[in-house]
Formats: sequence, C-alpha cells, structure tokens
Amino acid sequence: MTNIDALSWSDVKSSQVVRMAILPWGATEPHNLHLSYSTDNLLSRAVSLDAATKAEAQGVQTVVLPAIPFGSQNPGQTDLPLCIHMRVETQKAILYDVVSSLKRSGINKLLIMNGHGGNTFNGVVRDLAVDFPDFLIAISDWYKVVDSRSFFTEPGDHAGELETSMMLHYYPEYVKPKEVYGTGTTRQFTISGLNKRLFWLPRNWQRVSDDTGIGNPQHANAEKGKLFADAVSTVVAEFICDFANADPDKLYC
Ligand SMILES: [Zn+2]
Repeated sequence: MTNIDALSWSDVKSSQVVRMAILPWGATEPHNLHLSYSTDNLLSRAVSLDAATKAEAQGVQTVVLPAIPFGSQNPGQTDLPLCIHMRVETQKAILYDVVSSLKRSGINKLLIMNGHGGNTFNGVVRDLAVDFPDFLIAISDWYKVVDSRSFFTEPGDHAGELETSMMLHYYPEYVKPKEVYGTGTTRQFTISGLNKRLFWLPRNWQRVSDDTGIGNPQHANAEKGKLFADAVSTVVAEFICDFANADPDKLYC
C-alpha cells in the first residue's frame, strides 16, 4: 500500500487491512524567488511517504492520499499572481468529505500532515470529533516535529534554510540557482507584543518581505535536507505505528 499513486484496485482488493490514512495538506503560493509554488504540497507528501514507508517496515500498513494543494493564505500574499487562497469553510467541506469516504472504506484514523503555516485545522477537527466520535484525527505540522535548530543555522519560516534544504534534497529540479535566492529579510512589527508572539494577527506578506521569503536560504544544502527529512520521517513513523495500533478506548492512562 503506502502510496495511492501506485495503487490499483487489484492491489487494494487483495491487500491487508489498512488501519489509517495520511492526508498531506499544502498550499499554492510564492516561496521566495527560488522555490516552487508547490513547495508545501511536495514536501508534505514526500515526508508522509518516507514516514509511511518506515512504518510499513515495522508492519503497519497505511495509505498516503494525494496532497490537498490549496491553503489558507495571508493578506498581501493573496495579491500575488497564482497564489490560491482556500477559505476555512472550503477546507472544512473537503475534510468532511474525505473523512466520510474513509469511514465507508473501513478506515477510522487519519493523520493530517500539514506543510503550510497558514493552515490551522484544530477547530475543524474538534467539530469532526463531535460529529464522528469513532473516527480519530491527528494533526502534525511536519516541520515542527524535530527541533530544526540543531540541523540548520537559521531555519526560517517560509522558503528559508529549512524548506530550501528539504527541496534541494527531494526536488532539486524545482529549486532555482543560488544567485536567484532572495534574502528572505523580514520586517518586524512596530508592536512588541506581536513580535514576542504573545499576541497574533495575520501578517501582510508584502509588507513583511520584499521577496515573499521569511528567513535566509543562503546556507541551505541537500545534505542538511536529507538529515532533517530522515529525522522527521523517523519521528512521524513512530507516531504512525503508535496511532495505528492504539485502541481508541485506551488512549489515556
Ligand atoms: Zn512553505
């Protein structure tokens, strides 16, 4: 199983029981001057596949669904060409349809592998937990499951060293040459509580950054990306095994 792109009905018909599905969720948006618009889709799915493959080696069958390619976008970013904003209502409708379909397939667990900082699924997942009490959904922001500071000089938030390294590892063909990289220089707020992240409001992307990047990509390389991808997929695989094997009635000790 693992990768739905490689599955046909003949595989599914004769396969072992799949206990859970993995849904990568990304975005379509500019990523500094050098990374693909699809970076969040490509990376959330690549990490999901690596983790699912590691879980499969430990005897846990899962299936990685196609990535949902549209995310919740910030003002400013939405004014740029080909940036696609998906409303929370639409994301909720998609998630309800995916969960309903998985339930009909006999699957009762889903891991959302989020690759885009603007996506927040907690509220929707709480609604789903109320409406489908026998269906468990866990959410992971894959870029947060391992402390990135021990892998990167300046990880960055958006198209910085972390994301650029990951793209150089998985999809170097979609990374422009180094001379194209923007600096990813970020302007701070004039209000200290917002800079300290004690308070939050959505940043206007074009006022915060001149090249859409947040974080310096100059020190990125494929080797750092490989090491980080391996660490992240190992942690996610461990969670997949625990989650898939867990008895929903014995989640608490
Ligand atoms: Zn991204």
